[in-house]
Amino acid sequence: MQVIDAIKNAKEMMLSLEITPPNKGTHINDLYETLDTLMPFKPKFINVTYHQPQVVYEEIDNVIYRIPKRKKPGTVGICAAIGNRYNVDTVPHFICGGFSKFETEDALIDLHYLGIENILALRGDPAHGERHFIPHRDGHRFASELVGQIHHMNRGIYLEALEEAQPTNFCIGVSGYPEKHFEAPNMEKDLQHLKHKVEQGAHYIITQMFFDFDRFRRFVEKAREIGIQVPIIPGIKPINSINQLISIPRYFHITIPHHMVEAMENARTKEQARKVAIEKVADLCRQLLDYGVPGLHIYTMGRGKTTRDLLHMLLG
Ligand code: FAD
Repeated sequence: MQVIDAIKNAKEMMLSLEITPPNKGTHINDLYETLDTLMPFKPKFINVTYHQPQVVYEEIDNVIYRIPKRKKPGTVGICAAIGNRYNVDTVPHFICGGFSKFETEDALIDLHYLGIENILALRGDPAHGERHFIPHRDGHRFASELVGQIHHMNRGIYLEALEEAQPTNFCIGVSGYPEKHFEAPNMEKDLQHLKHKVEQGAHYIITQMFFDFDRFRRFVEKAREIGIQVPIIPGIKPINSINQLISIPRYFHITIPHHMVEAMENARTKEQARKVAIEKVADLCRQLLDYGVPGLHIYTMGRGKTTRDLLHMLLG
């Protein structure tokens, strides 16, 4: 099923979970063990992230080589495996970084043959070890360009002229940033770029994580004001430790509201801090559901324990 159809037909809260491929060399059973405990919450979609290789420089015989090492391969394989095992629709993340347009086209054809109908189209983070995003020489610079390529294929337009080419049928999601993407000069500009992604063919938006309901509400209002009409699904990150009060803002360029920081810092034990954080995130989810969001997209980490605790709190 396509995400956009699931949103239109949803009779109850639409839950999607985002998982990260395991490290190279890890058995896929570890991932299944985590998903076995999350599937009872009936996620409609499982998103699987995609990661550029880490770039390392190695000296061999007095020559410095730039060597890409991919730590977490397997996005498309995991999507196919999960789809088969749990009979659930999967959403592979597709990034611009590291791909030429031709490689992107081939990878999209793979997905089409596998019967995967959903894609989250992203520019991607800079490769580990690089400070800025560097596009492939023959690739896309922005997610909007990737969306445009997928949209073209949905109309049977491939990179080379093919007679009577079969159109693909991808539902395209893109990312949005309630606190602005860190590279954008201001919120207005970032929203214009978001609108451009929708004009290029995106069907819905999933947001970066945030912890303040009013920021999300203002983001949705501003998006609607400039004519972005597609569904906006909030991205939810269940925090589970005091350390994340520093690491999450640093890595994701977002803020954590004072009441949440104080509540966690005032907790007597690590376990109590974790419980307080999950309660705060559950409160945020309830506010979002009251506001009428089309679903909740949960960023699941590791063994999924914090996601389980959050979902138990929310759904019983
Ligand atoms: P874009 O939409 O291309 O925007 C990037 C920046 O360029 C923004 O500042 C935007 O304002 C600006 N911009 C856009 N168009 C133009 C233009 N025409 N001219 C000038 N500036 C422009 N990263 C991964 O590597 N793998 C993943 O699996 C992954 N999953 C994610 C899932 C979600 C839900 C989210 C929110 C993020 C995810 N990311 C992932 C992170 C994401 O790739 C990074 O945040 C990245 O820095 C930006 O990607 P984007 O698709 O939002 O980029």
